[in-house]
Amino acid sequence: MDTRVLITGVAGFIGFHLARRLLADGWIVQGLDNLNDYYDPNLKKDRLAQLEGHPAFQFKKIDLADRSAMETLFAGPHFDVVIHLAAQAGVRYSLQAPHSYVDSNVTGFLHILEGCRAQKVGHLLFASSSSVYGANSQLPYSVHDPVDHPVSLYAATKRAGELMAHSYAHLYGIPCTGLRFFTVYGPWGRPDMAYFSFTQKILGGEKIPVFNHGKMQRDFTYIDDIIEGVTRLVPKIPGPQAFWPADPASSAAPFQIHNIGNHTPVALTDFIQTLEECLDKKAEIEWLPMQDGDVVATYADVSALQEAVAFAPDTPLRTGLQHFVDWYRRYYGNAQ
Ligand code: NAD
Repeated sequence: MDTRVLITGVAGFIGFHLARRLLADGWIVQGLDNLNDYYDPNLKKDRLAQLEGHPAFQFKKIDLADRSAMETLFAGPHFDVVIHLAAQAGVRYSLQAPHSYVDSNVTGFLHILEGCRAQKVGHLLFASSSSVYGANSQLPYSVHDPVDHPVSLYAATKRAGELMAHSYAHLYGIPCTGLRFFTVYGPWGRPDMAYFSFTQKILGGEKIPVFNHGKMQRDFTYIDDIIEGVTRLVPKIPGPQAFWPADPASSAAPFQIHNIGNHTPVALTDFIQTLEECLDKKAEIEWLPMQDGDVVATYADVSALQEAVAFAPDTPLRTGLQHFVDWYRRYYGNAQ
């Protein structure tokens, strides 16, 4: 097939799984990552090591914010598709390290858009987030809802990415698809996320911090469902009819946004109980107040995704969490 894809954030949780899938499907994958230490870089290196044996995989260590390195990358061989997943992720950390969010998620994203423009890339898919739905969004979150009240800088940079992509789709005709992921979990996951750190703490006999006294709901989405949704969207190039709810005057742009979420919000207390069952160990809980930047609930309306690709995530939490726990025990050994 000889179709070349650039996957940014390839050493990250979602990028790694996506690269594995596209390599298995016969794609040529150019991976990019800066291998930063936001969380354990060894986990990123171990993911990368799994990919590097594949003959159709190449890797470049580049920081998205490095304009000249990005220009050099896009001056090289053509990419048919770019799947842009690299970002400074995490809601809470954006209160501590705001500059890294603007560097990676805004400046870095501009370099991706400029590269796609220079190369006339056939389709840019980019990671957004459920966190763009802010203080005033109704549940379930629909892609037709206004999203103009972000409650964290992370959310604001993700929304900025959507708006920047729309402007490039409109100005230069680059087909763009935004992917609003909802709390993704699974094997090879992210140590900064609750399911991972709770597992570490429960097994280590430490208390787990539970914010808003547990009165939270999350639409936990299993990684394989995310990958299935993204791969089905790759050939679905948005046409000029693709919707853009915020600005009907721009409806000629080849631009679309999709929620990719399990559309089954789970109360945090039920989530903890399920994790306890998977681990066969009780959690000790430290009840804490609501954290700045957080939202109380997330819940994806996936009707647009279903209509576009006849698919919606549906892995039950118990099944997906058991896969994560089994992987965790294998990866870290059964020491704990
Ligand atoms: P991740 O942190 O595991 O992966 C991101 C990767 O990007 C990391 O390997 C990191 O080293 C790399 N990176 C970060 N900044 C970079 C830079 N400036 N230059 C080059 N590489 C850089 O996160 P993930 O969970 O795989 O998330 C992938 C994407 O999906 C991100 O854009 C994230 O914001 C978004 N997202 C994730 C979730 C989730 O629950 N995991 C939810 C919503 C949105």
